[in-house]
Amino acid sequence: MEELVALVEHPRIIGIGESGLDYFYDKSPREVQREGFRRHIRAARAAGLPLAIHARQADEDILAILAEERATGGDFDFLLHCFSSGRALAEQAVAMGGYVSFSGILTFPKSAEIREIARDLPEGRLLLETDSPYLAPAPLRGKRCEPAYVAHTAKVLAEVRGLTQARVEEITTANFFRLFRKAA
Ligand SMILES: [Zn+2]
Repeated sequence: MEELVALVEHPRIIGIGESGLDYFYDKSPREVQREGFRRHIRAARAAGLPLAIHARQADEDILAILAEERATGGDFDFLLHCFSSGRALAEQAVAMGGYVSFSGILTFPKSAEIREIARDLPEGRLLLETDSPYLAPAPLRGKRCEPAYVAHTAKVLAEVRGLTQARVEEITTANFFRLFRKAA
């Protein structure tokens, strides 16, 4: 953790992550994942940088660790990256001051529930991301994702929120710079 906090002093490092729990791929023992996640939270808090959180089929443990770390060590900034979890995780993350970031998954036909969550969250907590080179949005799904493709995800977010795409771009850009203060 100390090494990480020292490394992120570099002027071009604006956040820490991604870190979290992946019970879908389960590539490491879950207790090891949880310990790594806790250390990254503590590093993000100590460094005063936002943590990008990866959550896959681990909603309950993500929430439990977020709540526990806040209770024992205090607040820290974070975003749920590439959101594909349940509504409770999104809402409780927002209640803890977190942001929710949507990738190309938002545009997929099967993602009706994700779109409903994106429609209902507070405007000030929405982010967009590419997850490039993965998860190219419709209609480019299956291609190698490029940063420019995020415009397609922005278009869908605009549709579900009943906003113009330009307004969504303003909102998500402002949110980004509020969260990633060091990038401003
Ligand atoms: Zn991830």
